[in-house]
Amino acid sequence: MPSDAVTMDKIVSLTRRRGFVFPSSEIYGGLGSTYDYGHYGVLTKNNIRSRWFDSMVQERDDIVALDSAVILNPLVWQASGHVEGFTDPLVDCRTCKLRFRADRLEDSHCGRKPSKKPGETPDCDLTDPRQFNLMFETSVGALAEEGSKAYLRPETAQGIFINFKNVLQLARRRPPFGIAQVGKSFRNEITPGNFLFRLREFEQMEMEFFVPPGDADQWHAYWIDARLAWYHGLGLRESHLRVREHGPEERSHYSLATSDIEYLYPIGWSELEGVANRGDYDLRQHTEASGTKLEYVDPDGSRYMPFVIEPAVSIDRIMLALLVDAYDEEVVEERQRTLLRFHPAVAPVKAAILPLISKEQAGMVEPARKLYEELRRHHLVEYDDAGNIGRRYRRQDEIGTPWAFTIDDVTLEDGTVTVRDRDSLAQERLPLEGVRAWLDDALERPWSPPPD
Ligand code: ATP
Repeated sequence: MPSDAVTMDKIVSLTRRRGFVFPSSEIYGGLGSTYDYGHYGVLTKNNIRSRWFDSMVQERDDIVALDSAVILNPLVWQASGHVEGFTDPLVDCRTCKLRFRADRLEDSHCGRKPSKKPGETPDCDLTDPRQFNLMFETSVGALAEEGSKAYLRPETAQGIFINFKNVLQLARRRPPFGIAQVGKSFRNEITPGNFLFRLREFEQMEMEFFVPPGDADQWHAYWIDARLAWYHGLGLRESHLRVREHGPEERSHYSLATSDIEYLYPIGWSELEGVANRGDYDLRQHTEASGTKLEYVDPDGSRYMPFVIEPAVSIDRIMLALLVDAYDEEVVEERQRTLLRFHPAVAPVKAAILPLISKEQAGMVEPARKLYEELRRHHLVEYDDAGNIGRRYRRQDEIGTPWAFTIDDVTLEDGTVTVRDRDSLAQERLPLEGVRAWLDDALERPWSPPPD
């Protein structure tokens, strides 16, 4: 299916209907660009997070984990340059009272005439751009006085840099080595919108890889390739992914070089993940500001400040890319079906167990429950006996469940069940006692998306 047929509205509606994502604070009218994840959203996020963690930490021996605090000493954000420089240029329209990012007017819509860009109609009255800091402020302690000001972190990376010495001493590592962290970050974005793409509160997965300065370019190239390969492994179509190098004017204040891995979202090619060479900017700033030397001392006594290569992404942007890539509509035997062709590894539910007839007397509920109780000890599976079988299959298609095991009258005769494949709709029969091994095996098989 061509990607232009997958609209953001369709994704929003499916994820709402099936309980992946809800607008936050909905009963109070919502809050701009914050969302709550429902059951299937949580399961999918867990899968994304654990695939990332496995590839970064479990399957390597040069990266360790960290979970630093969200609220850090405000001096951290002074030293990192965020208090001074983590800003976007903001313009207000005095007529429609909306606010826009001055560098994104091309992508914005006039409040009165949405077909026009801000500033294009005679009524538009834009202020001059001014710099707006994206960090949320809070205060620490009982009194909100000047000295108590603190910030919610806008990136997880700084928690890693300030722990560099702790990790270096205790993890017995030497460059090249990395520290990986997953956690919430907060940004008071000026032009939120576009569903999960730009949130005010999002879950970042960042890894800071410390390398000898002379090797930084080579490691930068390595991590761009490795991260791209990771997305292919999640089943995202190669034609929907590309790498784009930032021009010098576009780079963040700390960056020597940045390449974005972009995905073809319904809003066009946009940043999914950034892979930056941060040089020694952060370790140097924190060394100067704190007086603690954040450097590597070799056993031979030579010392240097490592450069840092950083792949950084949010689970939310990956989730949106996966949903867009997986969304499909097709007509089968004159009936339309909507489905999510998720890679089985990220699908929230791996298999559904369905008794064809849900009346106890039909004798199918008991073997179905038994199979479910066996499988759920190993995999996230779902039992469903509500409604007719066609509706139950469609529900599983919409949440992206790769396989359904159906217990029917033949099961009662010969002990076999039907397995239905979400993508091909092929059905085959398996012995009940072989289902567990079949599912283990199926989850290990390579999977690739259908051709465009
Ligand atoms: P953009 O240019 O889109 O604002 P950025 O360049 O500011 O993004 P980074 O600071 O590089 O983003 O953040 C690293 C990653 O964190 C991004 O690639 C993206 O995956 C994620 N991210 C950043 N801001 C948001 C947000 N507001 N909502 C969801 N994810 C975000």
